Amino acid sequence: MPRIAIGGIVHETNTFAPERTGLAAFAQQSLCEGDELLRRMRDTPTALGGALEGFARAGMQAVPLLYAAATPSGIVTHEAYETLLADLLSRLSAMLPVDGVLLILHGAMVADGQDDCEGDILQRVRAIVGPHCPLIATLDMHGNVSPAMVAAADALVAFDQNPHLDTFERGLEAAAIMQRMLAGGLHTTTALARPPLLLSALTTWTEQPPLRPVHERAQQWERDPHVVNVSVMGGFAYADTPYSGVSVIVTTDGEPALAQQIADELAGIAWAHRDAAAYTGLPVDEAVQRAMAASRGPVILADVGDNIGGGSPGDGTALLRALLDAGAQAAAVILTDPQAVERAVQAGTGADVEMLVGGKCDTWHGEPVWVRGRVERLTDGHYAVAGNDHFAQLYGREVNMGRCAVLSCGQAQGAVVRVVLNERKTPPGDLAQLRSQGITPEEQKIIVVKSAVAFRGAYQPIAAWIFEVDTPGLCAADLRRFTYHKMPRPIFPLDTVGA
Ligand SMILES: [Zn+2]
Repeated sequence: MPRIAIGGIVHETNTFAPERTGLAAFAQQSLCEGDELLRRMRDTPTALGGALEGFARAGMQAVPLLYAAATPSGIVTHEAYETLLADLLSRLSAMLPVDGVLLILHGAMVADGQDDCEGDILQRVRAIVGPHCPLIATLDMHGNVSPAMVAAADALVAFDQNPHLDTFERGLEAAAIMQRMLAGGLHTTTALARPPLLLSALTTWTEQPPLRPVHERAQQWERDPHVVNVSVMGGFAYADTPYSGVSVIVTTDGEPALAQQIADELAGIAWAHRDAAAYTGLPVDEAVQRAMAASRGPVILADVGDNIGGGSPGDGTALLRALLDAGAQAAAVILTDPQAVERAVQAGTGADVEMLVGGKCDTWHGEPVWVRGRVERLTDGHYAVAGNDHFAQLYGREVNMGRCAVLSCGQAQGAVVRVVLNERKTPPGDLAQLRSQGITPEEQKIIVVKSAVAFRGAYQPIAAWIFEVDTPGLCAADLRRFTYHKMPRPIFPLDTVGA
């Protein structure tokens, strides 16, 4: 039975975030090795779970290395990166010989002194296993792809969907490519094309241009028997690296010219739809007015700038302030603020409190907001995820938001805006999050979600309307708010680029 080493290090790094990401962030999220990796990740709706299922179906033995994943956040410390990678590599060396290696990576991981973590990881794994051992990696489509990544791997398989509902299928696909390579008939060659195009998180929704038409053509090409995989990368604009931006990766069976031709054609389609990259959503006050004027709810206000899934702190106050100022009714906002949670816990359930909430982590997400309200509920913040999406990949089935407090705030008529305070930032990936706090999402008029696209998996089915809001923050849709030093220029929509 072929032995396939499997493991990975996953992080989406927002290089503009002021705080560093250390080992504790991985330990808190996902960090497992050896047999524990198999126990924890088998049957999960993740790329790793899909790969393990693919191995089982194909009669391949999984040789577990290390799997580490942390919530998107600031640059990974040198110590954390080298510690995790050294562990993965030493386990790989100890398991030799293996018949193949499958890595679960992101594509937008940056560590202190290393702008291209995935290129580095793949090169160092390649150095251990040699040039002839099949080496395949799965990627998040928000990765920024370097030539080193493409050169070191035999195939790169990225998620096709955003929200990432196809993680398991892409793991299965990677395992199937491995099986074909081991059978001896498949000799992959991979090409990369990079149009000078930078997408905000908001404009990487795969149901809309510019990515939608690229995927439509990519699906046609994937039916060509010479084509092994087409990966359309939206890129991650909040990592300032030499490789940031849109790219297309095409793997064929021994047809390098065809791979490059397809990659160039698809990059051209993305470029042709570049005007869609300039979309930034509604201004804050207009979004709140339109939400309040809507005939029914829930109206979902996407706080795009404070997108937790892109490395923001989840304590942005722009929409809460606007809702309170406008006298909104039946609105729910989740904010991460451990100090405020502690204040509420000290006051106790039923107590009337006044305090500053949010806007405390950095200077990107608005000033703290003074709220007056009643402590309606206190919980330990645990809930079970019901949905099957990217959220489960990053967070698993059991989520711990830390202690939570629900404050009923607003006008004299009574509770009109509920502020859910938690201790640990948690993306709005599942309706169980609000339900666990005694709030029925379907009964709200307005719900603020700290997300650009990923929230759609959970909230689109119940939403009367969705308004994407041009809020400030580390994931702002307006990329002119950021100063880039390493990214190649010119790039659209920041610069004028010749056609
Ligand atoms: Zn992603």
